[in-house]
Amino acid sequence: MLIKEDLDIKEKLKILSDSAKYDAACTSSGSSRDNSGAGVGNTVSSGICHSFAADGRCISLLKILFTNECIFDCRYCMNRRSNDVLRTSFTPEEVCTLTMEFYRRNYIEGLFLSSGIVVSPTHTMQLLLETVRMLRLVYHFNGYIHVKGIPGADPSVIEETGWYADRMSVNLELATADALKSIAPNKSRKSILTPMRQIQLGIRRNEQLIADSLFSGHIADCSASHDIGAVNSPATDYRPLPVMHPQMRDPRSSPNAYVPAGQSTQMIIGAAPETDYQLVTIAEALYRNYNLKRVFYSAFVNVNNDSALPSTEDGPPLLREHRLYQADWLLRFYGFTAAELLSEAHPNFNTFIDPKCDWALQHLGDFPVEINTAPKSRLLRIPGVGPRSVERILKARRHARLTFSDIARMGVVMKRARYFITCDGKTDELFRQDEDYIVSQLMDAEHRHALQISQNGLYRQLSLFDDNNENYAPLAAPICNNV
Ligand code: SF4
Repeated sequence: MLIKEDLDIKEKLKILSDSAKYDAACTSSGSSRDNSGAGVGNTVSSGICHSFAADGRCISLLKILFTNECIFDCRYCMNRRSNDVLRTSFTPEEVCTLTMEFYRRNYIEGLFLSSGIVVSPTHTMQLLLETVRMLRLVYHFNGYIHVKGIPGADPSVIEETGWYADRMSVNLELATADALKSIAPNKSRKSILTPMRQIQLGIRRNEQLIADSLFSGHIADCSASHDIGAVNSPATDYRPLPVMHPQMRDPRSSPNAYVPAGQSTQMIIGAAPETDYQLVTIAEALYRNYNLKRVFYSAFVNVNNDSALPSTEDGPPLLREHRLYQADWLLRFYGFTAAELLSEAHPNFNTFIDPKCDWALQHLGDFPVEINTAPKSRLLRIPGVGPRSVERILKARRHARLTFSDIARMGVVMKRARYFITCDGKTDELFRQDEDYIVSQLMDAEHRHALQISQNGLYRQLSLFDDNNENYAPLAAPICNNV
C-alpha cells in the first residue's frame, strides 16, 4: 500500500474526491468552470456533486472520502486493500477547512463524507465523528452534512455522529448475504443492518422526545434497546436508546436534531447474479422496516478488472439501474408493491418499456380508466400520469368535465396515457386495446433502430422482451416523473 503523507490539501482533494465517485448516493457534476468576472461563483469538478433535498431542491455537496486507505478487501472497490493505488488521508481540520472555504465561495451547500476503513471500523467512525463535530461546534457550519455509517463501528460513536449529521447512510452493497460473503468478505448483513437499525431507532426516539416534550412538557425516559433483525423483521419492540449528545438533550431547543434528513443506502447492481425481483423486494423491506428515505442503485463497474466478477466491457448496466429507479418511484409514490411489479416467474424488468407500462400491459383488463370519475388509486396506475397530475385532475374535475387537451395541460404524458384512458367515455384516436400494438407504439425509436424493427407489432416474434437480447446504448440518468 503506497501511503503519501507529504501531499498538500489540493492533491489530497484530487485523490479523495476521485475515490468517492462510485458512491451513488450523490452524482458528481463533473464540470469545471472559472468565473470570467462577469458572473457569480465558479464550478469546480473536484468532489462537487449534486443531491436532492427532501423538498426536491437540488443541492451541491463536497463529496469526499476521509481516507482511501482500507483494511477491507471488497472485490468491486478501487480502494480495496489488495489494490496498489496511491493512498492518503485528510485530517479533520483539513475537511473542515475545505468545507468552509468551498461553502464561503458558494461552490457547495454541504458535505458528503465517506471513508475507507483505517485501523478499525470504530477508529474510522471516530475520525468521521471528530470531523463533523468540529464542523458544527468549532466552525459553526450550518449547512447540510451527509455521513456514512461504518459497518462494525461501536454503536456509541454512530449514535453521537447522528446528532451532527443531516443524513446518514450505511450501504447494503449487495442484495443477498451470499453475494456479500463472496464479494465483500469483511462485511456481513449483521454488521450493516445493526447501524441501520440503530439510526432508525435514534430518529424515532428523537421524534418521540419531541412529541413528549410538546404534549406533556417532560422528556421521555431513555432506556436501552438494540433491536437488530433481518431486513424483513419489523421494528415492533422499539424503545429509546440511552445515549444523547449533551448539547442536544432538550429536543425543544433543537427540534429534529437527530439525522433530520433520514437515512439512505446503496445497492450495487450487476456484480452478483441477483434478479430485479430480489432487489425491489429488499428495497421494499428496507423502506417498510427501516424507514429509509432512499435506496440508491449503482450500476456495477468492474474497476479492478476482477475476473471473478462480471465484465463491464460493454458499459455498466445503466438501463437496468434506470428501470430499478423507476420501480423504486412506483413503490414510494404510486402505491405499488414489489410483488405486483415482478415475481419469481417474471423476475426482471422489461428493458424496452418502463415498469409501469409493463404492469399496465399485463393488466389490460383494468383499462381504460375514466379520467373524470376514477378514484385516485386508479388514476395513479395510468402510465404517463404522475402524483402531481393526479392532484390536478382531482381538483379540476370538481368544476368541469375534463378533455384530453385539459389533462395534457396538467402534465399528463399523452404519448403513454392515450392507450389507457377515456375522457368522458371517449378514447384517443390512437387508442387500441391490443398489447402488441401498444408495445410497438411505446418502444422508443432508439430501441427499434437497434433491433432493426421496421414495422410495428413484431415484438413477440422477435422476443424483444428477452433481456438477453439487449444490445443498445443504455439510458443516461434516471428521470422519474410521471412514469
Ligand atoms: S470497505 Fe470495501 S467498499 Fe469501503 S473502501 Fe474499503 S474496500 Fe472499498
